[in-house]
Amino acid sequence: MNAAAGGIGVLDLQGGVQEHLDHLRRIGVAGRPVKHAAELAGLAGLIIPGGESTCLSRLLTIFGLREAIEQAYCNGLKLWGTCAGAILLARENIGETPYFGLIDIAVNRNAFGSQLDSFNREARALKVAPNPIPLTFIRAPKIVRIGAGVQALLKLDDYIAAAEDDQILVTVFHPELTPSLAFHRYFARKCGLDVTEADDAGLDPDWTPQSWTRFSPHI
Ligand code: GLN
Repeated sequence: MNAAAGGIGVLDLQGGVQEHLDHLRRIGVAGRPVKHAAELAGLAGLIIPGGESTCLSRLLTIFGLREAIEQAYCNGLKLWGTCAGAILLARENIGETPYFGLIDIAVNRNAFGSQLDSFNREARALKVAPNPIPLTFIRAPKIVRIGAGVQALLKLDDYIAAAEDDQILVTVFHPELTPSLAFHRYFARKCGLDVTEADDAGLDPDWTPQSWTRFSPHI
C-alpha cells in the first residue's frame, strides 16, 4: 500500500476530471488523477468521469487501463461512472458494443437528443440525501433496464438516472458540476471512507459556478 492508500482516483484521460477532484477535496477525501495502471494501487474507489465514451474507450485501451481496471475491480475496487463513465460500465449499450460491461444495466446513449438538449433539474434520491439534489444532464444517456442485483437510486419520468450494485455506482448526470456534494459523500461511504459532515442541503457554501454552468437555474 502506498501513501495514498484508501483514497479515490479519478480517471484522467478525458472529460470532467478536475471537477471531481475538487468535490473530493471538499468532502475531505484524498483524491488523485489516474492516467497509468500503476496509479490504481491502493485506491478504494475510482471515478470514471463524464466526457465522450467512444473517446474514453479508445484512450483506456491505448493507455493499457482496461485490463488494469478490470483486475482492480476483481480485487475489490469500487467504481463510479458519471454519464460517459456509466455508458462504459454498462453491460448493455443499446445498438452498440458494451465496453467494461461490469454492471447489469442497459443504457440508451444520447437519449435526450443533442448537446443543445442538455438541461438541469432537481430531484430527491432518498438513499443518497434527504433534500432535493440539483442535477445537470449533458447529452446524457438513459438507463432503461436494471438487472436483478442492481438497485435504482433515482427514477425520473421513463428512465433511471442513478443506480448501484454492491461495487458500482452509475449516474447519468454530473454531480461534480453542481454545488451538491451528496453523491460524492455517498460514493466515498460506499468505498468505506470517512467523509466530512454534510450541512442540511449537502451543498458546498464555497462552491462557485464554472464555465457553462453559470447559466443554470439552480445556481
Ligand atoms: N454523450 C456522451 C457519450 O455518449 C456522454 C456525455 C457526458 O458524459 N456528459 O459518451
